[in-house]
Amino acid sequence: MIDRENYFIKELGKEVKFNVPISDFVSLKVGGKTEVFYEAKDVESLTKAIVAAYNSNTPYFILGGGYNVVPSDEGFQGLVIKNLSNNIIFTPESSTVIADSGVLLGKLINLAAGRDLGGLEFLFGVPSTIGGAIYGNAGAFNYAIGDYVKSVTLLVHRENGIAIEKHDAEWMDFSYRSSHLKKVKSKENYSPVILTATLQLVRKRKDEILSAMQHNIELKKRNQPLDEISAGSFFKNPGAGKEMAAGYLLEKAGAQKLKVGGATFSTKHANFLINKKRASAEDIRILAEKAKNLVSDKLGVQLQEEVEYIGKW
Ligand SMILES: Cc1cc2nc3c(=O)[nH]c(=O)nc-3n(C[C@H](O)[C@H](O)[C@H](O)COP(=O)(O)OP(=O)(O)OC[C@H]3O[C@@H](n4cnc5c(N)ncnc54)[C@H](O)[C@@H]3O)c2cc1C
Repeated sequence: MIDRENYFIKELGKEVKFNVPISDFVSLKVGGKTEVFYEAKDVESLTKAIVAAYNSNTPYFILGGGYNVVPSDEGFQGLVIKNLSNNIIFTPESSTVIADSGVLLGKLINLAAGRDLGGLEFLFGVPSTIGGAIYGNAGAFNYAIGDYVKSVTLLVHRENGIAIEKHDAEWMDFSYRSSHLKKVKSKENYSPVILTATLQLVRKRKDEILSAMQHNIELKKRNQPLDEISAGSFFKNPGAGKEMAAGYLLEKAGAQKLKVGGATFSTKHANFLINKKRASAEDIRILAEKAKNLVSDKLGVQLQEEVEYIGKW
């Protein structure tokens, strides 16, 4: 058994931290401590941290904005890497952009608008890094980021060691709130990590893009409890159409009356599970189970989480 503290200080330098509360880095504000914590400020340090974890048999988890995860109260035995890589290169001639996976979606959309490049404005207001958005194929208003991905550069673990590979959108196998990376994650100890992505944007006038962004954010504010503590939509929509929307089903089954500790569902949008009053991660998970049972018993529909539970449960 290696001494992880000395090992990671040696590999990653003094910025590496220990016993850091994950709750400080996730939108739901729950979760215990991670044994090791490292902020990767660029793709090089992101790679270095993964290699260090791999070489020492340390489990790792890549945290983007932390907007779609529920870390357990027990915390994480291993290394949490907060991805702050933030380089962006636009190529106006082809209307493409190469973005580091840690780039914030809102920042990219704004910078692109300034260059008369649009396409992603439907995602404006979705809190996310590029990596997190591609991993979960983030979307809104029936569009998703996968439609704009040309290729991704990944760090992958192969039998003979770590490799950097480039894959196209077809390989990424995007589907509703999912991708190849999300599908393989539970099966692989060391799952692939997106380092950078090339996105195909669309030439449009800046004022047109800005007004679409404004329109979308207003719609979101009207329909979603953006001022409450949540991870966005907690469950996936189990089917197409309004009557198969998770929010509709939860509301119809009466889930908004459920409460566990400080966790409850928003009265504005039933698919937003909110941390109302210092809820624990366990409160949230128990409430989610109760709501799933309620919808299944009353309406015969099985809901599935869109959020991801992380750490030991
Ligand atoms: C108020 C609110 C509104 C929301 N509205 C929407 C919405 O309209 N549409 C929507 O789709 N989502 C929505 N969400 C959910 C959330 O914004 C998205 O799921 C977002 O894409 C998560 O990105 P993230 O960077 O925070 O990822 P995280 O939550 O940090 O991570 C999510 C998963 O992605 C993995 N991951 C992150 N980066 C990488 C990488 N570089 N390589 C490989 N895997 C990686 C993580 O390991 C984890 O498994 C909302 C959330 C909130 C809080």
